[in-house]
Amino acid sequence: MIRSDYHMHTEFSTDSEAPVGSMIEAAIQKGLTEICLTDHYDQDYPEVPDVEGVPFIFDVDAYFRILEKYRESYKGRIRICTGIELGLQPHLGAFYKDLTSKYPFDFVIGSVHLIHGIDPYYGEAFRGRTDEEVYAETFRLTLENLNMVSDFDVLGHIDYVVRYGKEKAEHYSYRKYADEIDAILKKVLDMGKGIELNTGGYKYGLGFCNPHPDIIRRYRELGGEIITVGADAHCPEHIAYDFAKAKAVLEECGFRYYTVFEERKPVFRKID
Ligand SMILES: [Zn+2]
Ligand SMILES: [Zn+2]
Repeated sequence: MIRSDYHMHTEFSTDSEAPVGSMIEAAIQKGLTEICLTDHYDQDYPEVPDVEGVPFIFDVDAYFRILEKYRESYKGRIRICTGIELGLQPHLGAFYKDLTSKYPFDFVIGSVHLIHGIDPYYGEAFRGRTDEEVYAETFRLTLENLNMVSDFDVLGHIDYVVRYGKEKAEHYSYRKYADEIDAILKKVLDMGKGIELNTGGYKYGLGFCNPHPDIIRRYRELGGEIITVGADAHCPEHIAYDFAKAKAVLEECGFRYYTVFEERKPVFRKID
């Protein structure tokens, strides 16, 4: 069983209303022994309709203060790590270097949420363009981000864009974008970083995790070892979502260990 969920959001994220305590309680109920909170921090995210103030930014000092209290009160019951999910954009290298050096994060996910300033979540990115064009562009842009931003531990949900395509994964496969995806994986390995297996894809009805198992297998073939597992839950019910499937995918792809992070260092847990 995989007992560590390393990607989840709380009310510190613009798109979640879950109190921190509710996520911790749910994780314990589900038999997890450790979790990492990874609230959204997307510097220079465009304005979002119906959201007041600056979206996807939170008070990091308050975050550390509150998590420290929970860590103390849940000691011996569950390990609670402090993480963050940074929204990568090529011009943010220095900004994120500064942010991650100022705070003692255990774990940092770097995720591409914007394609030239537009989040595919809102559908606009696909207007007048084929899924194929947008997917290929997103993969090229992901590589560009990796060349410009390096202060993170794993690259989040690599093919997340497929969740929002007009035909989603209808015509999507690793093979179709093998050149772009291989370049991303090789760059991640060169940088000494890892990837994550994000079970959000199952939740969104894609029928597979992000990235697709073929990409996880390819990462393993290229020598990849660092892989965290997260459900990307935005509410307590979704914690450890479809983790049994995640375990099967990791085993089928040749992994015997999954990864957690402590003070930004990878620690390997046996898949049992
Ligand atoms: Zn994300
Ligand atoms: Zn997330």
